Amino acid sequence: MKGDNLERLCVACRKLDKKEHLIRFVRLEGKAVPDPTGKIQARGAYVCRKKECLELLMEKHLLRKALRTPNDEEALREAIAFIEKGAWEVRHG
Ligand SMILES: [Zn+2]
Repeated sequence: MKGDNLERLCVACRKLDKKEHLIRFVRLEGKAVPDPTGKIQARGAYVCRKKECLELLMEKHLLRKALRTPNDEEALREAIAFIEKGAWEVRHG
């Protein structure tokens, strides 16, 4: 939602941060997917835009717990690749 400055909890390090500093993942069709727009109407979980937090999610399977889906690896790998490139691009479709 536009103009929503509420802070969200990172499911990895459990710290609060502004939404623009976090990556949102949602569960779509039983699969975790990144939601760079933050607009997908689905169960969501927020994570810091940091490799450490994404790797923690992967190691401890925290995203699959938060989103209640076992299919989170692809989304996490994708997000880590974005972070490594230093870019978080908005994708459509
Ligand atoms: Zn974090």
